[in-house]
Amino acid sequence: MKVVVVGGGITGLAAAHRATEVARERGLPLDLTLIEARDRLGGSIASERVDGFLVEAGPDSFLSEKPWALALCRRLGVEDRLVRTDDRFRKVFVWHRGRLHPLPDGFQLLAPTAMLPFATSSLFSLPGKLRMALDLLLPRGGGDDESLGAFVRRRLGAEALERVAQPLVAGIYTADPDDLSLTATMPRFIELERTERSIILGLRRALRRAPLPGTSGARWSLFVTFGDGMEELVTTLAARLPAGAVALKQRVSALERAGQRWRVATSEGGRFDADRVILATEAHATARLTRYLDPALATLVEEIPYASAATVSLGYRRADVPHALDGFGFVVPRSEGRALLAGTFSSVKYPGRAPAGHVLIRGFLGGMLNAGVLAEDDDALVARARGELREALGIAAEPVLSRLHRWPASMPQYRVGHLARVETIEHALGALPGLSLAGAAYRGVGIADCVRSGEAAAERALGRGDV
Ligand SMILES: Cc1cc2nc3c(=O)[nH]c(=O)nc-3n(C[C@H](O)[C@H](O)[C@H](O)COP(=O)(O)OP(=O)(O)OC[C@H]3O[C@@H](n4cnc5c(N)ncnc54)[C@H](O)[C@@H]3O)c2cc1C
Repeated sequence: MKVVVVGGGITGLAAAHRATEVARERGLPLDLTLIEARDRLGGSIASERVDGFLVEAGPDSFLSEKPWALALCRRLGVEDRLVRTDDRFRKVFVWHRGRLHPLPDGFQLLAPTAMLPFATSSLFSLPGKLRMALDLLLPRGGGDDESLGAFVRRRLGAEALERVAQPLVAGIYTADPDDLSLTATMPRFIELERTERSIILGLRRALRRAPLPGTSGARWSLFVTFGDGMEELVTTLAARLPAGAVALKQRVSALERAGQRWRVATSEGGRFDADRVILATEAHATARLTRYLDPALATLVEEIPYASAATVSLGYRRADVPHALDGFGFVVPRSEGRALLAGTFSSVKYPGRAPAGHVLIRGFLGGMLNAGVLAEDDDALVARARGELREALGIAAEPVLSRLHRWPASMPQYRVGHLARVETIEHALGALPGLSLAGAAYRGVGIADCVRSGEAAAERALGRGDV
């Protein structure tokens, strides 16, 4: 069977790798091609070593709580290459009125679970705290697919949204909370309200039943990475694909039905006939490739918006950084009017990110709410990041390392109604046998979700003769 995977990000790599596994397990002959437009695999994942620093241009870790990436690492035999966060510094700060305030211990994304640290926190006003505590009494509410903003305002109040939920969520989805679908991104909170009514009580009960990793002696922290950076996952997967399976610098420009089979053409003149095609490309690319096959499907896919972002990695001599850096980093509420969405103390969060006597700090800029800042040129963006780090952390010294990476139209946005859209897309694909869509655009943006999406597409492709 000839399988073509388009897109060499983590989704396409996971799909290609799973296809080889399934073919081997079932004794199927497999002819596999993975086509990637750029000159490198990995898509949004890219790590580089510069002057003793290990810089993550894109993702710096993956969530071990969602099992699919960790399970893949086990099958690849690279679990021993994983490193966990240094949980002595688990703290996250929130930039509020020009100062970094620690997020109170026990705060779980949207709501507090430990009452004393919450009550004594300098991050919230007294009325803000009382409004959050009202969650303990409020009845259930909400509609079908509520935005994260509406949900948090309703249950915990505007201050909880502005000072915690919005910036924490911007650090993950770069999204406007009033557009972001809660069902598509954090269904757990809807479930908590449904079953427990109060979010605070529900989180506390859930914690008693299953304490967080790190507090329970569980093996893995929530976020893990590789000793040599996230790109290790890319190189490991690529090395397991059949020789000659990867075609780089080939941009797929057309996809058409050829009888029962598919024909894939690239702008560079490549032609591939296939029994199964997996499009593991960003939704905007997928929409272009399906436009003539099914215009309605292409429109549904194209309407999934994308945000752009940039990361600025700055290396400093430790002695030049006055702040204790006693946390994983900080997030910045939109109301602060800054360019930074977040700052990560990369060399505190994970070992081996900076040479001895140095630290690595990474700023995250742009996103749905602050796209304009990315119009600035590279020097201006780095200067902005430096200026804001000076204010937040007191760093006046010149960095010894400065790296900027841009990610245009790289972060899909799950707007209210997203899951209904994805279901319609999946239904429409029923009329295009042998074609699968996979990737961050559909049912989860994290690396673990992408692994699951790619692997499921490979299983669909090889699973049944009539797909
Ligand atoms: C800055 C940043 C930080 C992030 N941080 C984290 C994090 O810490 N943890 C986490 O879990 N997730 C994180 N994410 C999200 C996660 O990295 C992405 O969602 C995931 O890597 C997307 O993988 P993908 O394979 O679906 O898509 P992509 O990585 O976008 O890959 C798609 C590939 O398709 C190729 N392509 C497109 N069109 C064509 C064509 N016509 N022909 C051939 N090839 C084509 C592209 O060149 C690209 O290589 C982050 C994302 C970004 C941008």
